[in-house]
Amino acid sequence: MTSLLRLLPHEIDALVARMGQPAYRARQLLHGLYREQYASLGEFTTLPATFCSQIQDEGYELAPAVEVRRVMSDDGATTKLLLRMADGILIETVLMQYAAAGGRSRRSTVCVSTQAGCAMGCVFCATGQMGFERNLRAEEVLAQVLAVQHLLAQRGEHVTNIVFMGMGEPLANYAETIRAVRLLTDVRAFGLGQRHITISTVGLVHAIDRLAAEQLQVGLAISLHAPNDELRQRLVPTAGPTSVADLMAAAKRYFHATGRRVTFEYALLDGVNDTPEVAAELARLLRGSGSHVNLIPVNPTAGGFGRPSRTRTLTFERVLLDAGINCTVRVEKGTEISAACGQLRTDAANGLAADLIPLASVPVRGRRQSPAAPAQSQSR
Ligand code: SAH
Ligand code: SF4
Repeated sequence: MTSLLRLLPHEIDALVARMGQPAYRARQLLHGLYREQYASLGEFTTLPATFCSQIQDEGYELAPAVEVRRVMSDDGATTKLLLRMADGILIETVLMQYAAAGGRSRRSTVCVSTQAGCAMGCVFCATGQMGFERNLRAEEVLAQVLAVQHLLAQRGEHVTNIVFMGMGEPLANYAETIRAVRLLTDVRAFGLGQRHITISTVGLVHAIDRLAAEQLQVGLAISLHAPNDELRQRLVPTAGPTSVADLMAAAKRYFHATGRRVTFEYALLDGVNDTPEVAAELARLLRGSGSHVNLIPVNPTAGGFGRPSRTRTLTFERVLLDAGINCTVRVEKGTEISAACGQLRTDAANGLAADLIPLASVPVRGRRQSPAAPAQSQSR
């Protein structure tokens, strides 16, 4: 079976035409999927039962993610969901909410996973330490966003931004990541502006060039973590043949192709890559690039790396700012709920999350959790 959430609007149009149905059925399907967020075909009461059966006969279904845990940070700004996909794998999705400046309504950013586990093995990353299980499909990325959208809708809010910064390396799962971006930004599907999406990569240069050629306006973040090859290869073991200079050149090409400057992410690891000398080297590397640096004091994981003190972090930031480099320290969010990617799942597996409320098999979306029963006929 194939999930309907995988199909781009023009593919839904083609499916409907192939079934000999009028074109407005496509609109009804898309409305049910993205506006009503139905969890099963049985909820599409505007569709004739024969059409729903036909859809199922063609091999299409709706298989929503199931929420197995939900944890919220003390300040309520970060909510983390542990979702189970159809084959049983567990995926993390995080909602981060920020007050926006100038009285605008607050930002609600969803951090989505693109893989179960990750093959890149970054030494400070909980996901990297669990190894690679499998790529997620585009519909599984959509299911994460819709799970959060459903949660927000209950409070009269909605998703404003999406970052591909959860478990896994999005550009190592290129085709599904791009399909997910197209579904999320198509006005007939989820309909979020492309500029409200950021893809974060450990630095797969060929894929960055491919992304630059997609004619998309999505933001790109490169996880740099070190200004030189020797240090970077210690932290990102798979960096191998890709040098820091290669990443700088790829970032420049991305900017020229899209007009969007790349952000560099830099996880600050106490005593490892956070000295003023390293900051000065990073400043020399980025001087004149116009790039933004996002400093992330590390969330301690099994790797044994510590988070630098506030003073050390601010000293590092000051060196960059004094050199004219645009730089921010990422606001600490959700540390107490293991919000670094892969941490909740790792804690759950180790029995460390006993204090979290298990929401055993609570369906994420939809009012009913019936199997895809054909809807009552109510054709127009
Ligand atoms: N694989 C992609 C996207 C997922 S990781 C990438 O590496 O960019 C998203 C971000 O979280 C990366 O910048 C990564 O370095 C950072 N990260 C991973 N583990 C972390 C930890 N324990 N503390 C803080 N940031 C972490
Ligand atoms: Fe994978 Fe990103 Fe974690 Fe590295 S930091 S192991 S690339 S998820």
